[in-house]
Amino acid sequence: MKCRVLSALLLPALACAHNVQLHARQSTTADENSAALSNANTATATSVLPSTVTFPLISENPTAVPLSEINTGAAQTQSTIAISTTYAGGSKPTWIPDAPALPPSLPIPTNYPKLDVTPPTDSDEAKQWIQEVMNSGVYIPDIAPTNPGGCGNNTAVLANTSSSGTCWWTCGGCTRSTDVSVCPTKNSWGVSYDDGPSPYTPNLLQYFDQEDIRATFFAIGSRIISRPAILQDEYLTGNQIAVHTWSHPYMTTKTTEQVIVELAWTKKVIKDTLGVTPIYWRPPYGDIDDRVRAISQALNLIPILWTRISPTQTFDTNDWSIPEGSVNVYEVLDNWELIMGNSTKIDTGFIVLEHDLFEQTVDVATGYILPQALAHQPKYNMTPIIECLDMPLANAYLETNDNSSHPLPLATVTPVSSSSASGAGASSTGSSSSGDGKSGSSSSSASSSSQSSGSGSLMVVSPVLLSVAIGAAAAVATLFL
Ligand SMILES: [Zn+2]
Repeated sequence: MKCRVLSALLLPALACAHNVQLHARQSTTADENSAALSNANTATATSVLPSTVTFPLISENPTAVPLSEINTGAAQTQSTIAISTTYAGGSKPTWIPDAPALPPSLPIPTNYPKLDVTPPTDSDEAKQWIQEVMNSGVYIPDIAPTNPGGCGNNTAVLANTSSSGTCWWTCGGCTRSTDVSVCPTKNSWGVSYDDGPSPYTPNLLQYFDQEDIRATFFAIGSRIISRPAILQDEYLTGNQIAVHTWSHPYMTTKTTEQVIVELAWTKKVIKDTLGVTPIYWRPPYGDIDDRVRAISQALNLIPILWTRISPTQTFDTNDWSIPEGSVNVYEVLDNWELIMGNSTKIDTGFIVLEHDLFEQTVDVATGYILPQALAHQPKYNMTPIIECLDMPLANAYLETNDNSSHPLPLATVTPVSSSSASGAGASSTGSSSSGDGKSGSSSSSASSSSQSSGSGSLMVVSPVLLSVAIGAAAAVATLFL
């Protein structure tokens, strides 16, 4: 059984989290540990999957794992490789001028919370971070946490998820001007990989080195504790490191204090591992609303999603579904072909959802997706997302950011009345209730956003305009689709 086999190899709960019988959007415990689930735009478990490549491959890595050997829903037997370099404490990054040196030693796991669950909110660190958010001046909207289960289990609030309401991306694709979901320049691809570092990340980095590719890695705090040296290798070879939470939950289901600790602990372990603190993050599953946005702003974090041009056309390869078992590699390649086709139809560049957590997702990336991208005409400009936003890598981190041209999120906080905070700067690419069609069945247990506060005991200190511009990043992020 796949869960058992994968457990032995890698990440027990992660592998099982995507068991097809336990849809991750409908689970709770599994969500804590899950690898990735997005609003996939294609196959479901009941679809008839293609059995061959349905379009001509214009390029293929000669050392690629054969497509027939990239197994659906099962562990593979490919061996992993070691990272190219192990870095000593004090090593200086060469990609970012004046970046701090690596800390003298790697993080000690016992100094951090339990892996793959939301950290406690009553620790000394948590209390300090919660206080910092309270003192930030950022207005945290009074939006209740959503029910686990996505749109289908939150029917009472669906009418309020659009730009005039909570702007819940999961249900309708609403974005604010502070969200990054595209690259501004046509044919630029802000490459990214989520949910690592994993044992297979070095295979991806090896291909990056071979083809001179760099990307943004949205790293999970719990995975960094397990593999800090791989994160250092990602960082020191010129990739961008960004936050992807501590335990990979649906963030809108969490209380405000829980959202704070999910983000803050991940920022801390990255700082402790690399010496720099990311100022970009991606919500797992793209699950963000105005409350989660505000909390992330209070923690100096800018959200990055992925490109979405309609309710059924998101730039999601659905690669995570290969190990989960509901999609095969041919379907993922069909998704990628569709994404490349759509990339030629839009006026901007794009951001795609892929993962470095699983052997299959790395194999399909290095063997097929990236070679196809490298051979694409017109040529794609493939960079980390910060660079596709026309900024240097240095602007990805608190310690090296150019605050004059790229003000930090907290630097843009401007006190205004809370009543004017809603709806500003919003964009939606789909109906507010359409969701992704895979979000679980409807339920009568849904709650209303007016029933209770999602902020727990957190007090609003100084209301601000939620969607206030975030400097240069906001300027490019306003290029909505
Ligand atoms: Zn993820």
